[in-house]
Amino acid sequence: MPETCLVIGAGVAAFGFANAIRDAGYQGRLIIVGAEESPPYERPPLSKAYLLGKKHEDDLIYRPLSFYEERGITLVLGERIASLDLQARSAQAESGKTYHFDQLVLATGANPIRLPIPGAELPGVRVLRSMADARALRDDLHRVERVFVIGGGFIGCEVAASARTLGKQVTLVETMPVLLGRALGEQIGSAIARVHERRSVVLRLGRRVEALEGRARVERAILDDGTVLPCDLVVVGIGVRPALPAIDGDLEIDNGVVVDATCAASAPGVWAAGDVARWWHPTIQRAIRVEHYDNALAMGAAVAKAVAGQPEPYAPVPSFWSDQYDLTIQYYGYPVEWDEIIVRGDLDEPAFTAFYLASGRIFGAVIVGRPKDMRPARRLVERLAQVDRAVLSDPEVDLRTLLS
Ligand code: NAP
Repeated sequence: MPETCLVIGAGVAAFGFANAIRDAGYQGRLIIVGAEESPPYERPPLSKAYLLGKKHEDDLIYRPLSFYEERGITLVLGERIASLDLQARSAQAESGKTYHFDQLVLATGANPIRLPIPGAELPGVRVLRSMADARALRDDLHRVERVFVIGGGFIGCEVAASARTLGKQVTLVETMPVLLGRALGEQIGSAIARVHERRSVVLRLGRRVEALEGRARVERAILDDGTVLPCDLVVVGIGVRPALPAIDGDLEIDNGVVVDATCAASAPGVWAAGDVARWWHPTIQRAIRVEHYDNALAMGAAVAKAVAGQPEPYAPVPSFWSDQYDLTIQYYGYPVEWDEIIVRGDLDEPAFTAFYLASGRIFGAVIVGRPKDMRPARRLVERLAQVDRAVLSDPEVDLRTLLS
């Protein structure tokens, strides 16, 4: 009897896994169980091209159902796993069905954090994570004028940009004094804030929402300085938490499923990939959990190799991108404490590359409007390069010359 590998979650990490597992030579039974109704799809366009009507649901689905059939993968959709019994090696679905496994891959992703304030459950208050969330938000956006965005992280910035592009009045509130501050720091975060201000997004930085009010649906937000902001639609993007079913058995969980260098969790035959997985990164020298697309895809593929019996250390340079208006913000590395940021180019245009240095070494880079810097900047981050500051900050220097 061949062994059974069960994947819980049918998102990007599960797709990375499905794409690689048969190529890696695995011959066991494969079952992917996902709570959403759609086969694995690309999430990044949801807050951008999809909201703008430039991409439709079918455009986002990675592969047709026949792909899974051809690879001998049973894809079960619309089925949420409620609990796991690691001893019995089984997963119980909310539907009452039980799935048995020999190998288990946790690719459960993360859930949006809900606003803990009065009025947060009113109709017209939305989050954006799934296709269903995006569908509802897109329909709302066509009906409303005043959009209030809570959170100046990735979802907040991208939704604000899309809503402005659709001609809506947009106000954004963020607890930090800049946008994307956690990932990019104050200096670069304020350059991003200026981009939004120039597009007439009203920013309320360093502020908090105390309550949302309305009768049949949300009508206004009350900020912590007493400001009352009338609005027709609220989008909440204040971060996510790892999503996991109830677990009976020993499994190390610490802000996600703790895995080793080969993506193996602490219980035998259990693996994790994507937003839910946390592991020690040897170059970054800390345990990290990465909530971005590139990591989910690559980590899913790394788990596929491990399940097929060819585990390899997983230690990529993390990367992400974010499209806002006509700008692409590309980042390589992982945002940890830095001593210094060296900027080449113009923060106001904006067309710049910023390098994040700790102890004189480049461990992160963000590139905006300078596509030619992307590849060499990534290589400099991979190498934790030490480069003369004057050379690094000179926008006329071709970064490729620093690689030799
Ligand atoms: P996020 O990027 O973590 O940003 C959340 C932001 O909301 C933070 O700046 C946070 O500030 C702020 N915040 C928290 N509580 C708040 C409050 N009560 N009022 C106002 N602001 C508040 O999370 P997200 O934007 O919700 O995105 C969700 C996940 O999807 C993230 O993991 C993100 O990486 C991912 N995503 C990625 C992309 C991309 O890679 N392009 C695009 C979309 C989504 P503090 O940090 O001070 O708490």
